[in-house]
Amino acid sequence: MVGGGSPLQLEGADDHVDVIVIGAGIGGLYAIHAMRQLGLSVQGYEAGSGVGGTWYWNRYPGARCDTESLEYSFQFDKDLQDEWVWSERYAAQPEILAYTEHIADRFDLRQHIAFETRVVEAIFDDEANRWRVRTDDGRRSASTWLYLATGGIAVAKTPSFPGIDRFAGTSVHTARWPAEGIDVEGKRVAVIGTGSSAVQAVPELAIEAEHVYVLQRSPNYVVPAQNHERDIALERRVKASYDHFRRNNDTYPNGFGTLWTDRSDTSALDVAPAERQRRFERSWETGGFAFLFTFGDLTSNTEAAETAAAFIRGKIAELVHDPAVAELLSPRHIFGCRRLIVGSGYFEAFNRPDVTLVDVSRDAISEITPTGIRYGDQHLDVDVIVYATGFEDQTASTRSISIIGPDGPLAEAWDSQPANYLGVATAGFPNLFLVNMPGAPSIATNMVTNTEYTVDFVAGCIDHARRNGFDRVEVDPVAQAAWTDHVDSLGEGKVYQFCHNLYTGLDSDGRRYVMPYLGVPAYLHHIRTTAVAGYGGFAFTNRESRTTSHRIPQTEGAL
Ligand code: NAP
Repeated sequence: MVGGGSPLQLEGADDHVDVIVIGAGIGGLYAIHAMRQLGLSVQGYEAGSGVGGTWYWNRYPGARCDTESLEYSFQFDKDLQDEWVWSERYAAQPEILAYTEHIADRFDLRQHIAFETRVVEAIFDDEANRWRVRTDDGRRSASTWLYLATGGIAVAKTPSFPGIDRFAGTSVHTARWPAEGIDVEGKRVAVIGTGSSAVQAVPELAIEAEHVYVLQRSPNYVVPAQNHERDIALERRVKASYDHFRRNNDTYPNGFGTLWTDRSDTSALDVAPAERQRRFERSWETGGFAFLFTFGDLTSNTEAAETAAAFIRGKIAELVHDPAVAELLSPRHIFGCRRLIVGSGYFEAFNRPDVTLVDVSRDAISEITPTGIRYGDQHLDVDVIVYATGFEDQTASTRSISIIGPDGPLAEAWDSQPANYLGVATAGFPNLFLVNMPGAPSIATNMVTNTEYTVDFVAGCIDHARRNGFDRVEVDPVAQAAWTDHVDSLGEGKVYQFCHNLYTGLDSDGRRYVMPYLGVPAYLHHIRTTAVAGYGGFAFTNRESRTTSHRIPQTEGAL
């Protein structure tokens, strides 16, 4: 099926396509489109019944993006970019889901995707240079190229509390909220967790529920989104020079920021306290991640970070009427160490008589009973338990598939650290590509633009292989080692390293390392120069050349 398009029909057949793409979220949709643009036949598999990935699964009340809408959108198609209208500064989940559905329809991508189909196994055929894939319905298919677009924040984590299955009420994880919603009206609702998902859900749940109990193990720093309806004048200005806007974003370390005029490189410690307070106030009023960039060293200098922490604790004391509750909500960990949370009305929600903060930091949750939650010697009677307990690590979604390369499983190769090259491929797994995984800016940047940049790079690499008669591309382990060291070095000294969070991993020696590539401009420089120089760090072969030599040719990598 060359350049063809229909999904695989034959049960049990080893049908071959050029590319199999696993996942139909932001990364998968664009990967399918880009591969189709190369004229390749594509088979996509998606566990959900529709497209959207994160925005398909995370339907909890209040779910919203914390990257501004004008930035959290694709740039690959000028008409799409100009025509799509976001209704708010920060789009809510239903609107982003509608956007992904629009992309699927506009670029005719659904015909390539088998929905409600989970890939369970992918084994590389070392002789034929192809991946053999099995799905949970028993179908078998094969492809030359395999694209993992399984998501970096995708595998929901629910603690294994004793008795969890005996709860007689309704239990739900925020990342598995049913499309038809959950009726909380007049119900007593417990929310376990105080991360981004809980911060967004609590104010919304409080509107309907009889009572919301927020079970907090650790408080977090939350800044206001200052969300508002679309600013038509701003939208016109951005759309008049969208390319310039995007290129400018590419010059910032996190890949966004053109909209913030107040960002500064000055140290927080180099200004007088009154001036520092004034600048923090201005960022607070601006809303969102702008706060992080009030000064140049809030994520690299713990003393500077503490000035931001103290400011937010001061805000909590102002916003929350009961001083004891305000104190309990005040974080003491290093500011910036965990991803900053952007919310709307979270701290204020605790002024409501029907919202109660429950401290489970010392009296840990010990059991779920048929009627509620036991912690310490207390029992909380509730009708609904919302698990806002987060996600497994960034590579967990790859472990839900048995991926076996010529030398063994990916899970084993990544056991200590998910080493890879440029964040797009990993040594020992020929023809396998990654999107939004460690080694690329991925979860530390705007995921939509990161998707485009990395998928475009991979598309160029596959195109280069095909044009030159190669059907096998693999990473040079030497280039991979240099890249992994480079990514590690960028994380050193950053405040992320001081606590457990989605950005960090622990290697087998117990060393904490930062997973995403920190620094969008340098990353773009690396992938672009690598492409221009003929994809150094990758070895290109075909069946004939491998018969004469099984050695991976040494090539000059990105570093
Ligand atoms: P999270 O940040 O990992 O938060 C999980 C929460 O559950 C934490 O408060 C954690 O407490 C708590 N928890 C876990 N196990 C517990 C236990 N046994 N007892 C009590 N509490 C427990 O997860 P999340 O809020 O879903 O956010 C995850 C990531 O998703 C974010 O970092 C962000 O990248 C993304 N996200 C983004 C948005 C957005 O764009 N606006 C919204 C939602 C999520 P501890 O802190 O003590 O471990």
